[in-house]
Amino acid sequence: MRCPFCGNLETQVKDSRPSEDGAAIRRRRSCSECGGRFTTFERVQLRDLMVVKRSGRRTPFDREKLERSISIALRKRPVDQDRVDRMVSGIVRQLESMGETDIPSDTVGGLVMDALKSLDVVAYVRYASVYRDFRETSDFAKFLGDEGLDNDAPEDPKDIRQGLGEQDISPSDDA
Ligand SMILES: [Zn+2]
Repeated sequence: MRCPFCGNLETQVKDSRPSEDGAAIRRRRSCSECGGRFTTFERVQLRDLMVVKRSGRRTPFDREKLERSISIALRKRPVDQDRVDRMVSGIVRQLESMGETDIPSDTVGGLVMDALKSLDVVAYVRYASVYRDFRETSDFAKFLGDEGLDNDAPEDPKDIRQGLGEQDISPSDDA
């Protein structure tokens, strides 16, 4: 890293630690030529994040797509947009702080499911039913049972899928 004071290329890292939100690494540097001190931040660039689907296909991470799939799951649910925005930002921060540019779609789906679970259980079930792509009503019933949700959402996954419309919210599809 070139010294911003004298242009010397020899600078040393004195200290290196994560920034407050964990999305960047902050480095204190000093120049071995002029002794000047400066700070650099190293962060993953969102536009470089790639989502790797189960098929191996890579697509650029798209925050708007993620927001759209989440808002479809939350349709007509009594959840403030502010909380949704914070949830999406939280997911994006987690993705950024993983330090990898290639992220499996299952990882993204898992983060969304975890976040929705604490935000709104109905939206969680909707998302899970599409994300997990239950083929059989019995698979879905087993999932609800495992999650202790049998009484809350005795819906057929096909109905939910229809309720969500034709929108693709499954990260495993070639969307
Ligand atoms: Zn210098």
